[in-house]
Amino acid sequence: MPEILSRISVRDMIPPLLLLAAVLAAIIAMSRHMMNKLGADFLKWVEDGEETDFNKISAIEKRLCPDCRAKLRENRPVQKCPKCGHELMGSDREYFSYLNHIHKRYIFQTIPVCVALSFFPLMGFVIGYFYIKGAVIRPFANYLPFGRRLKTKWTMKFVVLAISLFQLLPAYGAISVPLVAFIKYWFFMSAFRELARPGKDG
Ligand SMILES: [Zn+2]
Repeated sequence: MPEILSRISVRDMIPPLLLLAAVLAAIIAMSRHMMNKLGADFLKWVEDGEETDFNKISAIEKRLCPDCRAKLRENRPVQKCPKCGHELMGSDREYFSYLNHIHKRYIFQTIPVCVALSFFPLMGFVIGYFYIKGAVIRPFANYLPFGRRLKTKWTMKFVVLAISLFQLLPAYGAISVPLVAFIKYWFFMSAFRELARPGKDG
């Protein structure tokens, strides 16, 4: 057995794993809370979603009009398509399917990927950075005004820096990437919601 492996005992792994479990539990609890605020039951939300029109959602993600696929020009969630006049996020249905779709991706794809990435110090953090950006940040950041995006970015910089120090502690690194993903996702999603439905956040 290589020396490095024999030095890590099962007992050493228990505190980081408990911490990881606590972080994951907190993420699930907060998702539940978010679903309640959106007026959707969490378990029901996990089951259905068949009604989501993926073509429309992915058009919105690419900053295209979901109806005619013309390029959307403005940096805000509520806007009119310059070609067909479709009102983006005009209906609650469109707004909620968009939020739901990204949130599902966050729970079922982003979190597992980030947990796996945490086991690779530094490299996992770097790959995680770009992955998180593409998967759960860009869909919201695309619709934030420049100033707002900058403010959100800087608020997070310090938090993320503090968390990345976790990576230096052996085994504790396992929580850093999922935690960064959570904080970034939460910040950008909240900024998006505030602009799309002002005054509706509790
Ligand atoms: Zn259009």
